[in-house]
Amino acid sequence: MTFYIAPSYDSHYSCPNGHNNSSGAIHVDRRTWTCTECHYPLDIDMTDSSGLTLTVERHPAKTIRKGDHIVWDKGNSHLASGKVHRSFAPDSKQQATHWTLFVEDYGSGTVPANQYTNRI
Ligand SMILES: [Zn+2]
Repeated sequence: MTFYIAPSYDSHYSCPNGHNNSSGAIHVDRRTWTCTECHYPLDIDMTDSSGLTLTVERHPAKTIRKGDHIVWDKGNSHLASGKVHRSFAPDSKQQATHWTLFVEDYGSGTVPANQYTNRI
């Protein structure tokens, strides 16, 4: 239930290597959130109902590091962001498959290790 990427907030996709037209990235892979032309992570603008826009890349949870900032769906059409304080494999039977993040203003959340996560 935590740290879902929430693509319903997406307002714009852009390839950092210029594979774009006037409305943004031309080749969007919605499985890996990369440009299908160059395979670089897309720059994704997420906009919530208050008008807040945050630009993220999407990376698997296990690649998120201490000091990164991540973005999640706070509910009621609002986004929240926070700094990652700890990032580690849980010490449990989920160790091989899951990943735990301790995040400012959120607390801890454990998600599948390969679940895509919004990173600023
Ligand atoms: Zn590209």
